[in-house]
Amino acid sequence: MTTNAAPTTLADWTERAAAIRPRNEIYVDGGFRPAESGETFDSVNPATGEVLTSVASAQSVDVDAAVASARASFEAGDWSRSSAGDRRRVLLRLADLVNENAVELALLDSLDMGKLVGEAYTVDVPSAAALFAYYGEALDKINGEIAPTEPGNLALVTREPLGVVGAVTPWNFPLDLAVWKVAPALAAGNSVVLKPSERAPLSSLRLAELATEAGLPPGVLNVVPGHGDTAGAALGLHQDVDVLAFTGSTATGKRFLRYAADSNLKQVWLECGGKSPNIVFADADLDQAVEMALFGAFYNQGAVCSSNSRLLLQASIADGVVGELVERAAAMRPGNPLDPAATQGAIVDEAHTSHVLGFVDRARTEGQVRVGGQRDTVDGRGCFFEPTVITGLSPSAELVTDEVFGPVLAVRTFTDDDEAIRAANDSVYGLAASVWTNDLRRAHNVAGALRAGTVSVNTVDALSAQTPFGGFKQSGFGRDLSLHALEKYTGLKTTWIKL
Ligand code: NAD
Repeated sequence: MTTNAAPTTLADWTERAAAIRPRNEIYVDGGFRPAESGETFDSVNPATGEVLTSVASAQSVDVDAAVASARASFEAGDWSRSSAGDRRRVLLRLADLVNENAVELALLDSLDMGKLVGEAYTVDVPSAAALFAYYGEALDKINGEIAPTEPGNLALVTREPLGVVGAVTPWNFPLDLAVWKVAPALAAGNSVVLKPSERAPLSSLRLAELATEAGLPPGVLNVVPGHGDTAGAALGLHQDVDVLAFTGSTATGKRFLRYAADSNLKQVWLECGGKSPNIVFADADLDQAVEMALFGAFYNQGAVCSSNSRLLLQASIADGVVGELVERAAAMRPGNPLDPAATQGAIVDEAHTSHVLGFVDRARTEGQVRVGGQRDTVDGRGCFFEPTVITGLSPSAELVTDEVFGPVLAVRTFTDDDEAIRAANDSVYGLAASVWTNDLRRAHNVAGALRAGTVSVNTVDALSAQTPFGGFKQSGFGRDLSLHALEKYTGLKTTWIKL
């Protein structure tokens, strides 16, 4: 068996997990080092409560070192001024290395934050590899321009790397969301300092090591594990970071805007929270709609920024659909994240499990918990939560307006298209929305009226490497994925020649 052959049973995965030796230091200048202060924090497996490793906790002095290394590599030009062919070769090699190390990378994310290892292995890791390949192939297909100036002038408009990119990422798809930023930033020739979530830093550390193995020059990708209010703030406030690309909660996103204003006016791109509506009309394929409503709400234990956590059902079908949802959600009991048969994994940690339970308990005064609603354990331990469906809440109920980021679905009803659109748009967020109908005209009209960065019609959470992903309103204004993201990591430069 090669190191990458997929384990197929719980026993296989458990054996492979036992052999994992997570990297746990700061990655600067192409090598690992402890934090200057010697401080560490524990990485805990939420499915078991066991400490996986103690991770170096980067403080501002460590962030300074990482930014200095990134700046030096950028100025040296080994990457920033290398040929497109050279950059392409490294990114394609990195794509291969991610695939070759798929078992380890999938396990690191699963053990670190509780997601199902099977999903990490079949979805997250191949997607990360494919994104390096996508941007590796795309980087020499973006052209410059010659502007139509007056005769006797030649104005060239070129795209240049921006410099040092700080990337700050959340815990729900640790590998993928890091790669959504790192891959286009590197493809465009930037140097990067990545600060992964303190709740799931392990796959990012391994990724940096693989990048060096793929041929990325030292200093071009640095990783500073650490807490938000220390390492994250230090990166956000840094005077020598040109761009801060952030994915995380809206509250933290607002902090990064302030950090930029209080430091060097670095560009800030925000990918923040959501409370995405899923509208089901009576004329839809209801079997499909129910299946995907469950997926949209409970995939990754509901820890999905674009989770379809508000289900809006046309009143005439509501009772039947809710009955179906309840029956099927009841069968989705959490299991060991390493068990290929499990359909729900663990919740990232104790604090977040209590946060989810708090939302459900407060909703009980007004709404009806139709299924789930309780913490759970697997083999008598760990942080788990039952897939939960709640009905009867008013539009202003906290569980209808606020992001829970857990497996909790709030169901409401509507009578006609206008009411559905009003209810769907009644949110401070605007990340994603879904519409289920077999009426093409209705699909177009409703999709057009929804204030969301992505509208999925007759599916949920549609996304791909080729399409931009990001939000409206307080879901932020960044765009990850697609050629638009690659262009975003470049700055336009005009070179004007008087002939
Ligand atoms: P979070 O905002 O708590 O943390 C995100 C990152 O910011 C982490 O690396 C964290 O250490 C850092 N951070 C936290 N406080 C900070 C501070 N005071 N200063 C500087 N940095 C700080 O979010 P989370 O709990 O990790 O992730 C969940 C959130 O992410 C949800 O709101 C979810 O919707 C959002 N999210 C958005 C997208 C998207 O593409 N729009 C994708 C995934 C997750």
